[in-house]
Amino acid sequence: METRLQRAAHLLDVPHLVVFTGAGMSKDSGLDTFRDADGVWSRNAPEDYASPEGFRRNPRAVWRWYLERRKQILAAEPNAGHKAVAALEQLLPRVTVITQNIDGLHQRAGSRRVLELHGSVHRYKCSKNCRGVPTLTPTPELDQTEPLPCPYCGALTRPDVVWFGELLPAEVWEAAIREISACEAVLVIGTSGQVEPAASLVWRARDRGKSLVEINPAPTLINGIAEVVLPGTAAEMTPALLAALVALHAAD
Ligand code: NAD
Ligand code: ZN
Repeated sequence: METRLQRAAHLLDVPHLVVFTGAGMSKDSGLDTFRDADGVWSRNAPEDYASPEGFRRNPRAVWRWYLERRKQILAAEPNAGHKAVAALEQLLPRVTVITQNIDGLHQRAGSRRVLELHGSVHRYKCSKNCRGVPTLTPTPELDQTEPLPCPYCGALTRPDVVWFGELLPAEVWEAAIREISACEAVLVIGTSGQVEPAASLVWRARDRGKSLVEINPAPTLINGIAEVVLPGTAAEMTPALLAALVALHAAD
């Protein structure tokens, strides 16, 4: 009899796979999720730290909060789950990661095609979006405890992340839609499915008949539409799934 892992491996053994990830992906790297009981929002009010209004009210506090998160992220390491996702590229012709995370851990683990829906803590941009959105990579000068003025217009710089009430970067969003339309299967890891429009990509995939496999230790909004749910953490379940795919290929 086929195990759940083997069934998941069969469904994901496709020419073009999308891996859709959320904060749970990085939990095993020691980075907190947002909405879980012990998550970031249990300690900080989102409207204070992740909204344009919060930044206008207190740019310095928001800047420092992101500096602190960036420091934690730089001190963290990709976990076995990120590494297994990167290793999928050795097995399948095309793998695209679409992530809600802003930590850059997929790239550090070696994933080559990563779409960051919510931006990155490793870039800054002008808070007035002058000149389109030229992004600035952190330098010792930019990494001060005060936001520096934009080099072009003098408005304050801010982290290049998507805050509540803001639109997703159009190019990245359009690329994500194209990937979802073109792929045959989606592996969803560590997302509650509550953040829109990101989560709608999963429903879009379902509506287009793509295979869906989900890894999450807790129930989510996506459970009901996934063909296989692998209950477990990213760091334990993703390598197990990779091993099942390797075994499948070896048997061919
Ligand atoms: P969320 O906090 O809403 O949900 C996290 C999910 O992860 C939950 O379903 C939970 O059951 C699951 N989870 C917890 N531990 C896990 C583990 N070890 N392995 C796998 N799954 C686990 O997060 P979300 O759905 O990603 O919400 C999106 C928002 O959170 C985004 O805006 C994203 O930018 C932001 N965020 C990013 C980071 C990061 O970059 N590391 C961290 C926190 C939040
Ligand atoms: Zn500017």
